[in-house]
Amino acid sequence: MKSNTDTATGFSSLRNPDEAGFYGPFGGAFVPEMLYPNVEELRSKYLEIIGSESFRREFLNLLHDYAGRPTPLYFAKRLSEKYNTHVYLKREDLCHTGAHKINNTIGQILLARHLGKHRIIAETGAGQHGVATATVCALMGMECVVYMGALDIRRQAPNVARMRMLGATVVPATSGNQTLKDATNEAIRDWICNPTDTHYIIGSVVGPHPYPDLVARLQSVISEEMRRQLAEKTGRETPTAILACVGGGSNAAGAFYHFIEEQGVKLYGAEAAGHGIHTGETAATIALGKAGILHGSLSMLMQTSDGQVVEPYSISAGLDYPGVGPMHAALVHFGRATYLPVSDEQALKSAHQLARLEGIIPALESAHALALLEELSFGKSDEVVVCLSGRGDKDMGAYGGS
Ligand SMILES: *Cc1c(COP(=O)(O)O)cnc(C)c1O
Repeated sequence: MKSNTDTATGFSSLRNPDEAGFYGPFGGAFVPEMLYPNVEELRSKYLEIIGSESFRREFLNLLHDYAGRPTPLYFAKRLSEKYNTHVYLKREDLCHTGAHKINNTIGQILLARHLGKHRIIAETGAGQHGVATATVCALMGMECVVYMGALDIRRQAPNVARMRMLGATVVPATSGNQTLKDATNEAIRDWICNPTDTHYIIGSVVGPHPYPDLVARLQSVISEEMRRQLAEKTGRETPTAILACVGGGSNAAGAFYHFIEEQGVKLYGAEAAGHGIHTGETAATIALGKAGILHGSLSMLMQTSDGQVVEPYSISAGLDYPGVGPMHAALVHFGRATYLPVSDEQALKSAHQLARLEGIIPALESAHALALLEELSFGKSDEVVVCLSGRGDKDMGAYGGS
């Protein structure tokens, strides 16, 4: 462990980690020796590639013409009246495939091409990242293998059908609980066996360095656009506060990224409390977790007293993860951001409210961020941006008809 961050640096080392991938005490690359060459190849090349003019041009073109960016920053008038403040929604729900995840998969498939890879693997839980990966593989004509827990394959049939229609091979992970953690283990095993031709697209700001930094940089387009759009709409580039939901933490990292060094901007994350943080059926990693290593990085982790990972629960599949990206663990550690648990019930209520007040059905994940408007209080002249990470079509089963 090492600590390279203090507040005198203006929190810049909370935005990007040091060379070994540490955000303060969290992060790093704790990988088995067999995986080291793959991770090292990526680490030694990613900054140069994604910083290059040709990558930037291709990335921004695809974000614009294919994913539909920039996404609008929408002033939600009736929601603002309800909370007696100014609420803006960053409309990631309008991205191609219905969520922010496509920003990352477009960036990573371009990176894979620059690295000379022609086969893509990914892990997926609810199938959202699997669909975003299968989509860009079809676009680039690359082979796509998605590992998914056998139980999740049964629970998420529509996304499995989408992946297959897009040409991906969906491989069931039959070990353990047959969910995301087991799918991730299978993906890592595949990568070890195919080091030269395969790139592993991780779907959030988790995993060994350089993934957390790579994904945060690709998703940072969200806050880059927000600054410009806020300036146009309010005359100032900075809001009072930004609210985002946190599973692994990629939409939150993207929404916070260009504001981390500006301490006047309050940053809030919503994590899934499930049935409540003391019920044993929860995914509130920051409220309940302790430092530990999961999937190659040292971060906050829900674990038993002898270090076994606790099975998480949330009504929202995208937030149902026992860990959190190391950037978020560091943002908590240094007091730069605040994370609050939001229950299934609170999220459902906020989703129904947004549907009725604004005519927008949010993803269950995004509804956790909206629920923070109930928890926090803002002034009449404050400007609050909520990252609406995705649309709710996939969640109609949970919303019902009421
Ligand atoms: C996957 C997903 C999330 C959670 O992932 P993060 O990496 O925490 O952003 C949130 N919202 C939607 C709509 C998702 O699909």
